[in-house]
Amino acid sequence: MNKPEMKEEKKRNKDILDVVDYKLDPSLVNKYNGMTFFIKTYGCQMNEHDTEILSGLLSQMGLIEVRDYENSDIVILNTCSIRENANNKAYGMLGRLKHIKEENPNLIIGICGCMAQEENVVNEIIRRHKYVNFIIGTHNMHDLCNILDKSITSKNLEIEVLSKADKQVENMPVIRSNNFSAYVNIIYGCDKFCTYCIVPYTRGEQYSRKKEDILKEVDELVKDGYKEIILLGQNVNAYGKDLYKDYNLGNLLEDVAKKNIQRIRFLTSHPWDFTDNMIDIISKYKNIMPNIHLPVQSGSNKILKLMGRRYNIEEYKKLFDKLKNARENMTISTDIIVGFPQESEEDFKNTLDLVDYCKYDNAFTFIYSERSGTPACKLNDSVPMNIREERLQRLNEKVNKYFKENNDKLVGSTQKVLVYGKSTKENMYYGYSENYKLINFTSKNIINDGDIINVKITHSKTWSLDGEECE
Ligand code: SF4
Repeated sequence: MNKPEMKEEKKRNKDILDVVDYKLDPSLVNKYNGMTFFIKTYGCQMNEHDTEILSGLLSQMGLIEVRDYENSDIVILNTCSIRENANNKAYGMLGRLKHIKEENPNLIIGICGCMAQEENVVNEIIRRHKYVNFIIGTHNMHDLCNILDKSITSKNLEIEVLSKADKQVENMPVIRSNNFSAYVNIIYGCDKFCTYCIVPYTRGEQYSRKKEDILKEVDELVKDGYKEIILLGQNVNAYGKDLYKDYNLGNLLEDVAKKNIQRIRFLTSHPWDFTDNMIDIISKYKNIMPNIHLPVQSGSNKILKLMGRRYNIEEYKKLFDKLKNARENMTISTDIIVGFPQESEEDFKNTLDLVDYCKYDNAFTFIYSERSGTPACKLNDSVPMNIREERLQRLNEKVNKYFKENNDKLVGSTQKVLVYGKSTKENMYYGYSENYKLINFTSKNIINDGDIINVKITHSKTWSLDGEECE
């Protein structure tokens, strides 16, 4: 049994990890032919991509993915711990699985993802959720097949969670969720240690994938006909810092942009690591999409300092303006936390002023959520929950006003849309414009997922646009 320790997770040793190729123990190939699995994914795109890899690993054992967890032999929760709410959702699901297991004692339940790296979560599962069969951490996800096999054989709770990564594993099998837009990991972990954030502990030390491995994966995706590549990391703008002296995200973006790929996106960006050279590359290559996610978190310098964000609001605005001017039609989205400890009404008003300045095209707004063990938990003067809620409401009213105003400006324009599929609205399809507007549209033609087509915008809403296919 290996349990995570937060003290160990916090340590950084700056070693370059060995890179090894994934290999499945031959005795496990197709060992569980015909058994079924279901993975419930919580959280960000990194987790969504991890689920694609977990599916790839399990399918090598002969397992078949199903959409209905109630009739699955194995259920895995790929968890997120960014906010308490995310943890609560996973615990709620565990409660439902407990009832199913009472009816079907052979059900195998596994937990992976960020919650698996939380020392207190693992202890809680040992104490109160003994029906769970295995817990596997983010650093040894490649070991899933061995641990699943061990838990099926031993019938005990198997816990294999490393506090730190000991190697980087390449060439893991992956079952992608579609055949036109693909995630590609470029950097793992985070060394920023924003004071409210659990990620530097759960995802560990920042380490980049070698550029050769990334470009090889991109080449394969191009060969397979993918139209869009989304480069992923907790902080992609730190790419290369741990590996190279003179190769960073800008260089990588340029190398990817030179490939025959129609759309390139990347997330998430920390403003502190955004360089002018990266902005130059974004303005130079038209297949890098004009949409940047640039989390600000607060409009108050006092709160940014307490959050350990390493920039002030004047620097953020300067960067925002540069990016906005880098490309025609550039859209910028953000993340904002309200109710951080010691946030006064004046600090909050600074956040509202910043929103008036930036007029974001999208914003993910959150109430501050204490994460056990992080430095922000030790700050005094927490903001009462009713004030946090009231601020969130005021903030949402403001950001929504700008979403709608920005969308109104697009009515009558023609947008190039990458088709994602049939919309939930009758007789409509949906997809995303180059600057990442969600567009529902009609067409008289046969439309396939992954097509890139022109859509004339006819109507705007707060979070989406309506249109019709045009020449
Ligand atoms: S940069 Fe992002 S992932 Fe890293 S500590 Fe800050 S908020 Fe967390």
